[in-house]
Amino acid sequence: MDQANNQIREETLDPNDWEALRQLGHQMIDDAVAHIRNVRDRPLWQEMPPAVREAFASPLPKDPAPAAELYQELQEILMPYPMGNIHPRFWMWFMGSGSLTGALAEFLAAVDGSNLGGGNNAAALMDRQVVGWLKTLMGFPADASGTPVSGGSMANIIGLTAARNAMAGGDVRANGVAQLEKPLRFYASDQVHSCHQKAVELLGLGNNALCRVPTGPDYRINLDALADCIARDRAAGFLPTCVIATAGTVNTGAIDDVNGLRTLCTREGLWLHVDGCIGALIAIAPQNHRLVDGIGEADSLALDPHKWLHVPFEAGCAIIRDASVHRGTFALHPEYLEEKTRGIAASEFLHDYNLQTSRGFRALKVWLTLREHGSEKFGRLIDQNIAQAAYLARRIEETPKLDLIVAPTVNIVCFRYDPGGMTEAALRDLNVEIMLRLQEAGIAAISDTTVSGKHCLRVAICNHRTTTGDLEMFLQQVIELGELVRVEKPVL
Ligand SMILES: *Cc1c(COP(=O)(O)O)cnc(C)c1O
Repeated sequence: MDQANNQIREETLDPNDWEALRQLGHQMIDDAVAHIRNVRDRPLWQEMPPAVREAFASPLPKDPAPAAELYQELQEILMPYPMGNIHPRFWMWFMGSGSLTGALAEFLAAVDGSNLGGGNNAAALMDRQVVGWLKTLMGFPADASGTPVSGGSMANIIGLTAARNAMAGGDVRANGVAQLEKPLRFYASDQVHSCHQKAVELLGLGNNALCRVPTGPDYRINLDALADCIARDRAAGFLPTCVIATAGTVNTGAIDDVNGLRTLCTREGLWLHVDGCIGALIAIAPQNHRLVDGIGEADSLALDPHKWLHVPFEAGCAIIRDASVHRGTFALHPEYLEEKTRGIAASEFLHDYNLQTSRGFRALKVWLTLREHGSEKFGRLIDQNIAQAAYLARRIEETPKLDLIVAPTVNIVCFRYDPGGMTEAALRDLNVEIMLRLQEAGIAAISDTTVSGKHCLRVAICNHRTTTGDLEMFLQQVIELGELVRVEKPVL
């Protein structure tokens, strides 16, 4: 060996003391079990003291520190201050509540370390298998295509990109949208999730290309109004391209008439995309699956395993009926990414179905939770949450000073505390105050929204830990806080 070679340092990130790191790993597992097992006994959320906030302003570390000490630090500054969404009384926005198995799966996925850009490895086969299971659950044919993504927003982008490219005519990939003969138009209800606006902006269509069609009193898209919009746009020289059905809106959980939209899209020659981030998985719920009848007939579907399958963030999935359209939208084969007939690259590249090149091994957490519990249990848990929302709505209706604003279709309840004789503005202030105090006391987490001009508190029960007792305690607290705030702030 020559002199120069002898001088190459041989550092690595592996530990000097494997035994110490093994013990630390065991400690982490023990603590994780306690953390999740005892979640009900801790406040759902707590404000961080200033010293904790300051800890996150510490400068870039140049020198090493023992992993055990860092773990101790994390126990102090990180673990006591989570968002709270694994707690049984977290019902804000719409998100899953995680599981210990899901957390272990994240760990195993990282230990395996595979990059799901693709290739000839077990992780890639598992990725394909999990997409296949989700296709089956959603009623898509075996030759449909799909890809795991970070979440629903990304799954919608994948679906809408495929829709744009399939329907635009000409080669959008080569020429872009500026060269199209007719500007494209997408349609969705006025309850559509904001990620679709980002999607059409990103796709070069602009926000005005997404027509918000009015909804009826049930917050579902009005099919006649949609047909009118399409006819008017055609007459004005636009190319009606795609209808985005929402199966479970964020505000109220309303589910568009997917079968009606399928018929309309087929008649009019439009692509049907279903945003099923909230509701697609209702397809597996024995008592409620009819609510989402027809989602398996969509041209593309976005769903969100990190919501009602409760896998840890992030996990979304896009499904496209026509696999050739899916590949045709994303596949590229640069010289440094050629498939081979043998070895590590002897398989199709999964980045041909996705915007990402490198991709994490999200499929493992879905695989492990579905295998451990079986898909039927998730169906029952979805029914359970829907029944809990119906129970909560009933209790609100029979309780004086509580006003049910929207009867739940699924698991979302909109209501407000209304002692009578207050203006809309004062009611809003009072209800926001109740909501914030519930959060600050770490009792329960709900969010708020405005539907049909009425501000309301919004409870979205996507939580496998919630019990009837939790709902009763919550209502009791809302009423007590309502009284208390009025005494403290009589101007409200
Ligand atoms: C949650 C949600 C999204 C966005 O999904 P993310 O997983 O948060 O990216 C899109 N549409 C609907 C209807 C949703 O509920």
